[in-house]
Amino acid sequence: MRISRIYVDQSLDLAHPVQLDSDRAHYVSHVLRLKTGAPLIVFNGLGGEYAGHIEKISRAKVTIQLENFTHLNKNSKLNIEIGLALIKRDAMDYAIQKATELGVTSIQPLNCDNTSIPTRNLEKKMRHWQQVANSACEQCGSNSIPTIKPAVRFTDWHCSNFDLRLIAIPEAHALGVDLSQLKLIPSQVVVAIGPEGGFSTTEIERAQEMQFTAINLGPRILRTETATIALTTLVQAKWGDLSNF
Ligand code: SAH
Repeated sequence: MRISRIYVDQSLDLAHPVQLDSDRAHYVSHVLRLKTGAPLIVFNGLGGEYAGHIEKISRAKVTIQLENFTHLNKNSKLNIEIGLALIKRDAMDYAIQKATELGVTSIQPLNCDNTSIPTRNLEKKMRHWQQVANSACEQCGSNSIPTIKPAVRFTDWHCSNFDLRLIAIPEAHALGVDLSQLKLIPSQVVVAIGPEGGFSTTEIERAQEMQFTAINLGPRILRTETATIALTTLVQAKWGDLSNF
């Protein structure tokens, strides 16, 4: 039986039993349906994980006794930030979940000229996206959770401190390169993926000023979430931790 992994937003140490908050307690007792004595892995996204078991379940309260700590991290040596255009809820969730599984470090939601979804309640959405990333880490075994940054306009995005900036543009064969032509070995890469309406001319000009390299992902037009997975995979395979095949 696979042991469940639980993310908690609190500090952890072996000396103190973990008291889950009501959301997490509900998840453990009603969604996972775990019982007293069940083994669990607990992590808080700050690196490493704790093995433990459920000591007590009473009504809305779950207490976990931690038994040992393992300094286990599955981070890529490559720091990847995805600049992800705001898209419809399910597609955005999917892109964040898959980018997390593929080991990105941070996700920067981008409000683009062609963004067609409402941009209200972005703070609430940000909390939801962070939960999507947390759950993806519970599932995929990562103990480092990608940071979801507050949304910005594409043209206000500060990413000049990254070694390499890539932007996915379908017409990029005219102005872009493929990854095999890039000779540098970056340790930090930014990847920008546009909305369903694509990046505007102003945004493409801004990207050129910021020395983004335009990347083409083949002859078909991919949805934003597919392009996110495709380019993250290519980048991890070339410079990150997807290279063992
Ligand atoms: N009609 C839009 C298509 C947008 S697809 C246009 O012509 O630009 C959504 C986003 O996915 C794009 O902005 C781009 O970042 C990425 N994308 C989709 N297919 C791509 C391809 N073949 N090459 C490069 N990027 C692609």
